[in-house]
Amino acid sequence: SKVRVYELAKKLGISSKKLISILEELDVDIRNHMSSLEDDMAQLIMDLVSEEKGSKKTKNETPKTPEPPKNTEEVSTKPKIQKVVLPSKISIKDLGSRINIEPVKLIKKLMDFGLMVNINAEIDFESAKKLIKEFGYEAEEEREDELAELEKEEETRPEELKPRPPVVTVMGHVDHGKTTLLDAIRETNVAASEAGGITQHIGASQVEKDGKTIVFIDTPGHEAFTALRARGAKVTDIVVLVVAADDGVMPQTVEAINHAKAAGVPIIVAINKIDKPGANPERVKQQLSEYGLIPEEWGGDTIFVNVSAKNRIGIDTLLEMILLVAEMAELKADYNARASGVIIEAKLDKGRGPVATVLVQKGTLKVGDAIVAGPAYGKVRAMRDSRGRMVKSATPSIPVEVMGFSEVPSAGDVIRVVSSEKEAREIAEKYHEIHKEKENITTPKVSLDRIFDRIKQGEIKELNCIIKADVQGSLEALKLALEKCSTDQVQVKIIHGAVGAINESDILLASASNAIVIGFNVRPDSNAKKLAEQEKVDIRTYRVIYDAVDDIKAAMKGMLEPEF
Ligand code: GDP
Repeated sequence: SKVRVYELAKKLGISSKKLISILEELDVDIRNHMSSLEDDMAQLIMDLVSEEKGSKKTKNETPKTPEPPKNTEEVSTKPKIQKVVLPSKISIKDLGSRINIEPVKLIKKLMDFGLMVNINAEIDFESAKKLIKEFGYEAEEEREDELAELEKEEETRPEELKPRPPVVTVMGHVDHGKTTLLDAIRETNVAASEAGGITQHIGASQVEKDGKTIVFIDTPGHEAFTALRARGAKVTDIVVLVVAADDGVMPQTVEAINHAKAAGVPIIVAINKIDKPGANPERVKQQLSEYGLIPEEWGGDTIFVNVSAKNRIGIDTLLEMILLVAEMAELKADYNARASGVIIEAKLDKGRGPVATVLVQKGTLKVGDAIVAGPAYGKVRAMRDSRGRMVKSATPSIPVEVMGFSEVPSAGDVIRVVSSEKEAREIAEKYHEIHKEKENITTPKVSLDRIFDRIKQGEIKELNCIIKADVQGSLEALKLALEKCSTDQVQVKIIHGAVGAINESDILLASASNAIVIGFNVRPDSNAKKLAEQEKVDIRTYRVIYDAVDDIKAAMKGMLEPEF
């Protein structure tokens, strides 16, 4: 790992004398041309020399003619100042790759500050901050580690895993009968078990079928589903896709399919309104097969059930099929682990204070437990199930309304049981602190500018894209053109494509799936634009297909001109 001065000089094509003078300039302690150098020092010198040579070369080059302005319109949701989040200690090498600047340049700059370090040396946050400021970056200290430490999960114990009920979300195009179907399911169930029972709307409901439980999320539609997913919560095990038999596949049907697919959640199709005279279930099957949902009788593996939500036909079969798919998915949880779950919805109740519906995902939540959910903490004072009954405990998948929070948590927050209320408060306070800092950082989740770094670091192998276009023809053309940009390292994947303006649903999907949104002759509507800023989703709009292709290709090679 060591190299002698004369050997290195030979390698570099310079005289030993010249090399020694460079080394002296760098304050490296050497005696003569037989002295040996550490490997990193040798590397540093090599970089310095080749850089010097390189810069001479470029100086002699004829200046390039400036490129003509592109016919590209940028809807900027990107940060104006380049901010980076850094840990409390970082090596020069890592720092360089984070901001995409050659480590040797950083080392040189440090020398200007009178600091002599090698490429693997670690510097503290304050020094790193000063250093990268010189390159136009602003540093924020990373607090993730601390938060991760706080949120550290217990290890799963495979031998403790027991089956848990499936959690289902109903999706589909507007007016295809999602709400009616959910009502029908709840009603048949209540009627069977406890006549006259009133269903409480706590955000999710629990129904029984053949002695087994199924949990439904009460808010139908893919927006709620994906909003939770965008916050990192995976709640749904099965999607029931409602398609009206008289209307067929519509835009939001396709959106729902792509949202479910992006989440990797199995789909059961409920063909609804079969009571209607114009109902044509076969046509729906035909249309859906184009989206990869192929019925079993045609050799596929998607389950289709004909229902009439209004006339309560086929509901039992649908529930049976849900249980079947759940069984195949082998949904399991450790009932004895320290309890944790996800907040499905939360509100401030006048009489009862903050209340939140929790879907337990692990362990058993009990009255009296000390809890923390994001910035909210407290002690479980009381719990109600979806039928309004007071309960003392809730096992995995079971939704309960929890009272006893210090403030209203947000949907998507993880709720955890901790050992004491004091610990819960400390964690919540830390969360407050960290999030206040994080709010000021405006780094997109995935942006074209930074895609190359992440590819290089092996962080991503797929570039997820959502395409919206003005007409079907250009949508298809753009899809094909972009998919062709895939390389050996990175696959360009179109997770959703449709005709129409960029809407909130696109942004949520992008946020949940780490995708970028590409608009072709369309723009985001105002809500989408706002949401994109909040969710830090990168939107690019184009008028020329080749410009889009150029940008994607350039971004994947790390050649995209940064835009400030
Ligand atoms: P959502 O927007 O998907 O939640 O749809 P809704 O549940 O609000 O239903 C839209 C309309 O379709 C309502 O007028 C329902 O009464 C009607 N509808 C729902 N299911 C059926 C059905 O099975 N048969 C018939 N004929 N109408 C239905």
